[in-house]
Amino acid sequence: MRLLLVEDEKRMAQALCELLRLEKYDVDHYADGEEGLYAAESGLYDVIILDVMLPGKNGFEIAKEVRKSGIKTPILMLTAKSDVDDKVEGLDRGADDYLTKPFMTKELLARLRALVRRTSNSSDGTLSFGDITLNTNSYSLICSDNSVRLSEKEFHILEYLILNQGQILTREQIATKIWGYESNAEYNNVEVYMSFVRKKLSFIKAKTEIKAVRGIGYELRYDNV
Ligand code: CA
Repeated sequence: MRLLLVEDEKRMAQALCELLRLEKYDVDHYADGEEGLYAAESGLYDVIILDVMLPGKNGFEIAKEVRKSGIKTPILMLTAKSDVDDKVEGLDRGADDYLTKPFMTKELLARLRALVRRTSNSSDGTLSFGDITLNTNSYSLICSDNSVRLSEKEFHILEYLILNQGQILTREQIATKIWGYESNAEYNNVEVYMSFVRKKLSFIKAKTEIKAVRGIGYELRYDNV
């Protein structure tokens, strides 16, 4: 799980990063609104945590622009004010949930888990596209009566493609999402893993395919003919 935290208060940001990393989330932190928006629009994150009052661009503006660019990543807004109007404004602009400062870390973690569950698209722990279903608990990939287990990386690649269906994901986006910014993963790692996932798709006789879009990246396709 990769989280983006946009928060300008140093101590708050530090404490949150520590807490979230302890909980095994990968966290990227930005203190500036413009930089935060740029990161949010990368589509690399599973959840975005946004402070409202920020230098550069405020949290409401970021949420609005993120939604305008078609990114559906769940947004949790942190606000210092308990003002009801603020909440309405934020939710109107695309935030999915709210937390008023000060808050208990337990509550933040619970909200995050709830948002992540929502991302998983359904309550039964499955994600679907075309004729395939991905079980997010068992890492199995299913097509009618056939199923196969995926490795952790294969699972995350396919999950990322399903969550961004209809979009072409670049090799760079996939490499960063799966291996992280600091890793030395070469782009050909992406190709190698794509070939593993494709083998598993053909093993279960799925019609869903991973199409390579020359010079750009990859996309899931399903032609039921
Ligand atoms: Ca602030």
